[in-house]
Amino acid sequence: SIEVNSVGKRFGTFVALDDVSLTVADGRLTALLGPSGGGKSTLLRIIGGLEQPDTGTVRINGTDATRIPPQRRNVGFVFQHYAAFKHLSVYRNVAFGLEIRKRPKAEIRERVHELLALVHLEQFADRLPEQLSGGQRQRMALARALAVEPSVLLLDEPFGALDAQVRKELRDWLRRLHDEVHVTTIFVTHDQEEALEVADELVVINHGRIEQVGSPAEVYDKPANDFVMSFLGPVT
Ligand code: ATP
Ligand code: MG
Repeated sequence: SIEVNSVGKRFGTFVALDDVSLTVADGRLTALLGPSGGGKSTLLRIIGGLEQPDTGTVRINGTDATRIPPQRRNVGFVFQHYAAFKHLSVYRNVAFGLEIRKRPKAEIRERVHELLALVHLEQFADRLPEQLSGGQRQRMALARALAVEPSVLLLDEPFGALDAQVRKELRDWLRRLHDEVHVTTIFVTHDQEEALEVADELVVINHGRIEQVGSPAEVYDKPANDFVMSFLGPVT
């Protein structure tokens, strides 16, 4: 589970996060939805340990992680613009986290093949990342994030740079993947339709404050205020 408790974050005098609290139960997929500048990435970076909050705490699986460095939080990250080792094959990119943990070669091979099957990239194991499409690269990034069996998965607009058709395919695919692996996940997006379609639960954030939390149906049918109502707007 992920528990964020009264987190505040300023950049100079600018308040990026104002007393933010949220809980993601084990195995759930929560979408963090809000307009540009609302504080989504800042919150995700704080949960992952890439940024320190000024106030408040972050607990991961019941442990206070607020002062734990990112590499020891056991989180998987995927960002909008994929970060891959350009000179390494798809296989080696996915294997990387296991290699630095010095897992046995045979175990690595088995795990990487499993992961590549999961993201439907088995036949691309020997390619370089630049020889993949944008959507395939983001799937590789997901396999890489999942390789070390993270207890939580943090996705910051992972499909944001892709065209609408591919986004839609990957969104459906992410939903199915999550139904298989059940890793506790936060999915950041500013796309209302994407959030409504993919998530078990929605958290709407604006100006560094949480506006509403609920199931997609609850938030859509009963927006808590004018902001949520106009932001969810007519979904086309
Ligand atoms: P987007 O949808 O555009 O990615 P976001 O919801 O992810 O937006 P954040 O990146 O969290 O928004 O930024 C929230 C606010 O904090 C913005 O106004 C941003 O300019 C500001 N901010 C973020 N990081 C910094 C920083 N390192 N220094 C100063 N201001 C920052
Ligand atoms: Mg962002």
